[in-house]
Amino acid sequence: MSNAAMVIRGNAIFDGTGAKPFAGGIAVEGKRIAAVVKGEGIDRYIGPDTRVIDCGDRLVMPGFNDGHTHITQGAFLEDPDFSFCLLESGSREEAIQMAKEYGDSHPDNEWVFGYMMNNLLWKDQTLPTCHDIDRVISDRPVVLQLADMHTVAVNTCAIEKIGITKDTKSPADGVIEKDEKGELTGRFYDGASFAFTDAICSPSDEVYMQIYENLFDKMKKLGITSCSLVAPYGAHDDPLPYFEKMEEKGTLTSRVMMYPNIAEYEKESFAALQKKYADGKLRIRGLKQLIDGVTSVFTAYLLEPYTNDPGTCGATSVDMKEFKKQALEAIKDGVPLRIHTIGDRAVREMLDIFEEGERLYGKQNLRHVQEHLETIHPEDIPRFAKLGICGCMQPWHMLFDLEGGDKGNGLYGDKEAAVGSQRAKHSWPMRELLDAGMVLSLGSDFPVVGLEPMCEIYGAVTRQTFDGKPEGGWYPGQRITMEEALKAYTWGSAYAEGCEQDLGTLAEGMLADIIVLDKNLFEAKPQEILDTKVVTTIMDGQVVYEA
Ligand SMILES: [Zn+2]
Repeated sequence: MSNAAMVIRGNAIFDGTGAKPFAGGIAVEGKRIAAVVKGEGIDRYIGPDTRVIDCGDRLVMPGFNDGHTHITQGAFLEDPDFSFCLLESGSREEAIQMAKEYGDSHPDNEWVFGYMMNNLLWKDQTLPTCHDIDRVISDRPVVLQLADMHTVAVNTCAIEKIGITKDTKSPADGVIEKDEKGELTGRFYDGASFAFTDAICSPSDEVYMQIYENLFDKMKKLGITSCSLVAPYGAHDDPLPYFEKMEEKGTLTSRVMMYPNIAEYEKESFAALQKKYADGKLRIRGLKQLIDGVTSVFTAYLLEPYTNDPGTCGATSVDMKEFKKQALEAIKDGVPLRIHTIGDRAVREMLDIFEEGERLYGKQNLRHVQEHLETIHPEDIPRFAKLGICGCMQPWHMLFDLEGGDKGNGLYGDKEAAVGSQRAKHSWPMRELLDAGMVLSLGSDFPVVGLEPMCEIYGAVTRQTFDGKPEGGWYPGQRITMEEALKAYTWGSAYAEGCEQDLGTLAEGMLADIIVLDKNLFEAKPQEILDTKVVTTIMDGQVVYEA
């Protein structure tokens, strides 16, 4: 029996399998876990040079794995020198004024970029036009992005910078809005909006590195030792060189599992990338696409019309014929897919494609994931486990929706108003999906919301807003347990990424990504979950953060 480099002892060790916490210890040698001991016996791994971390009643668990992020864009939004938050704007006029003030106080910024504008909170929900924004800033490009991250309102200078004219056709996956005279309005939706955010996120290499390092610093303090980075990256397409430099410098303290856009898929080059980034801190794990939008602006694709707008069922955000071809091609090549499906019809059509993929190419045990799963027809719930499709869900999105109450003015609009109570019963149906055997991954969708895992976990176990509404929880039958929520944030995400062989659980041979919280979440009251902090983060066997 050799001495370990590090031994972690505690009364509450959650190993990621979903079992209740136990008392015992973990021995770490190099990058990996050398032993996990239940009860007495860990002390035999302690030698004169062993670092011993005594955790007492604090919870010890695998590092969080955020199953759905856009950290490339999020890193920029976190930086106040780079952009400003529009969430507080109470009207169109106020949003425009905020842009002017930010522009005035940041004269050297090439772009004036505001994000998290939420017109659903405004009395008059009409978005600004390019002419509205031109009135306050016309000599620099201005981009105001909606909280859904799928819509921008920009000024004329921004349009010219991107090179769009009134003759430019809308892309297949988005809309360039024009008025009745065929003139550009300055509003761009879905795929048409991404050209602006891509163009904004292109400062110098040093600034870029600093912005990323700031974000990873925040992530290690939150105990996030892995994350999935899914397209749209919302910044330039290739963050890999920066991440690689960070790895060299030792600042890459979270593993990044990357999923570029399926539209860019090309078999040979993708296979080469996957081979190069197979099992290190940076891994290319599959492809991402969105096939519908969001409920609040009626772009989530539903089987039956919207309850609050019977004239529409929403629509897909891509040409489904073309997308299906791409998807089946990738499945044939054995590439896992992560597909954004929010409305019950988008959910079903994607399951149909996976089913066809299985019929054509057999059961391959690829880790396909459907993202968000906000509303599901009950008949489709058992299909996930049957087809081996994982679900990655974001409880905090649900809380934002609940903030809107029945007035339909939440950040995402009010789900219940949009889909009616019959369908709301099966909205964010985590309980039903777990009971039906689906593997659940939890994630944030940062920067749509923050990165804080505690907010997601609180949402999953309470289904209440941060101030405890509604009493008892929104459709409380869909709540999941603390064991299930933590398992989904660790093993579940690793499984969805196809990385569960070395990540997500505390067991001999696993990579030593371990965190210690300041309390035992299993004993915490709901409000105490929100106050819980990470005190130690260990990644690759190294302590990377200590409070
Ligand atoms: Zn997303």
